[in-house]
Amino acid sequence: MSDAASAGDSIFIEIEMSDAVASDPELATKLQEVCPVSIFKATDSGPEIVVSQLDECVLCELCVEAAPQGGIEIIKKYG
Ligand code: SF4
Repeated sequence: MSDAASAGDSIFIEIEMSDAVASDPELATKLQEVCPVSIFKATDSGPEIVVSQLDECVLCELCVEAAPQGGIEIIKKYG
């Protein structure tokens, strides 16, 4: 997995993307739109995770719903 697929600097939240999701520019745009706290940044090669925003995640799962099943996983690093 690339750095974008598994960002490691957050305290509470980690987001994992499948390789298919991580390399899909169209889905990247969608993810950038749906996430209320701007965790996804659309690039020409696919979604990037904005690590500095990760802990703002409100667990709304809009990104999980926007992606193909199993494509995005939100991992809580606490509790
Ligand atoms: S669960 Fe919601 S807040 Fe968290 S990354 Fe996905 S869209 Fe953004």
